[in-house]
Amino acid sequence: MTFLGMPARAPRGVGNLRGDESFPDAARTALADPQLRRNLRHATTTIRGKTDRVTAELPDWQELRAVGAALKAYTMAHLPELLERLEERVTAAGGTVHWAADANEANRIVTELVRATGQQRVIKVKSMATQEIGLNEALAAAGIQPVETDLAELIVQLGRDRPSHILVPAIHRNRAEIREIFLREMPGVDPALTDDPPALAAAARRYLRETFLSTPVAVSGANFAVAETGTLAVVESEGNGRMCLTLPETLITVMGIEKVVPRWRDLEVFLQLLPRASTGERMNPYTSMWTGVTAGDGPQAFHLVLLDNGRSAVLADPVGRSALHCIRCSACLNVCPVYERAGGHAYGSVYPGPIGAVLSPQLTGVEDNASLPYASSLCGACFDACPVKIDIPAILVHLRNTAPHPRSERAAMAAAAYTMDRPVLYAAAQRAARLARIVGRRGRGLPPPLSGWTASRDLPDPPSQTFRDWWAAR
Ligand code: SF4
Repeated sequence: MTFLGMPARAPRGVGNLRGDESFPDAARTALADPQLRRNLRHATTTIRGKTDRVTAELPDWQELRAVGAALKAYTMAHLPELLERLEERVTAAGGTVHWAADANEANRIVTELVRATGQQRVIKVKSMATQEIGLNEALAAAGIQPVETDLAELIVQLGRDRPSHILVPAIHRNRAEIREIFLREMPGVDPALTDDPPALAAAARRYLRETFLSTPVAVSGANFAVAETGTLAVVESEGNGRMCLTLPETLITVMGIEKVVPRWRDLEVFLQLLPRASTGERMNPYTSMWTGVTAGDGPQAFHLVLLDNGRSAVLADPVGRSALHCIRCSACLNVCPVYERAGGHAYGSVYPGPIGAVLSPQLTGVEDNASLPYASSLCGACFDACPVKIDIPAILVHLRNTAPHPRSERAAMAAAAYTMDRPVLYAAAQRAARLARIVGRRGRGLPPPLSGWTASRDLPDPPSQTFRDWWAAR
């Protein structure tokens, strides 16, 4: 059953869920870049090491994962009621809730809210949801300048680039490249800037401080929203989020509908799982929570935009829906051998890595991201790493079954099924395979059109004796 209205996919022509190329084509380009692979290997190995250390020190880590998974499953089963309760509590606390069916609607709502303030610039806290819907592009088209305040997001924005990791969006950049971007694009930057990390951070801080103090409208995402109390939570490491959430007069939060949690106490579980699985920290440096508006303290106007954009369609799939359990920790990216080599851009969507390979095709419809479910070796490392135990390999296999297959592949599979159904034909095929081996095809792969399958795989040798022959001989 679908619980929330009509299941609709994320619309085409807006947002950042679809790439221009298929995964294999984009990955080929990325694999040819040795600097990118070095950056990725260094970053993912470092984060993995930290995460392993801090999760190993918790004796109940596996129980926490199980509770996190159970809470998410409960939330998905009760999503309509929980969202209505959230709306009621946020409204009672002085906030305004807007429901956005898709990216177009969400962009329109946010643009109108900003216009109503009379401002032409907004500061932003890092948010996957706003990247998903292409909010920056929509604001810019309306003459409103969005300024990213997370350091890595700022690097990506100034470099007119795309993020390549959920947590470390500029993971593909090294410090020399960052210096170059700052010198070229950052207003008021010191021309003597070096590529020393503290100097780069200080330059960003100077620019951002000025922007924080002169921009009265902020846009954020949310890591969690508590239905019981109407409280929103953002966790981050740099303090830029705290500035965005407290300094402006108007705060607009765009949140995917799956981010709701039932009770205040549930945060106890997620605030342990998230930092350990994502940055390898015991707790987040900054955890900001707010409930509606408070007179004389913080933003005096608060808007919450609840975004569907394909999530109802994901919820309608009993196998695929657990992709909505994701708390965007990025642990699955850091352990994925495919992500570590191909990097985030190859996935074409704001959601890279294993979670992107299952979430993006479901939000857009598999036909629009048909190569992503194959961007995996199905090794299962993502499942082991996921703090809310999403069985990503199972969803990948499920999506491969629903993805459109080329005519030649369908014909080959139909022929194989026909042969395997008929013992005489099957025995003849086995003899033919042995014969092919004897005449020297061994090691050369399969002939076209099946050669694509063996282009990157070894064709196993057929055994010298089949089970049937062995049995007949006895
Ligand atoms: S799927 Fe799991 S491991 Fe991957 S980002 Fe989401 S919560 Fe983290």
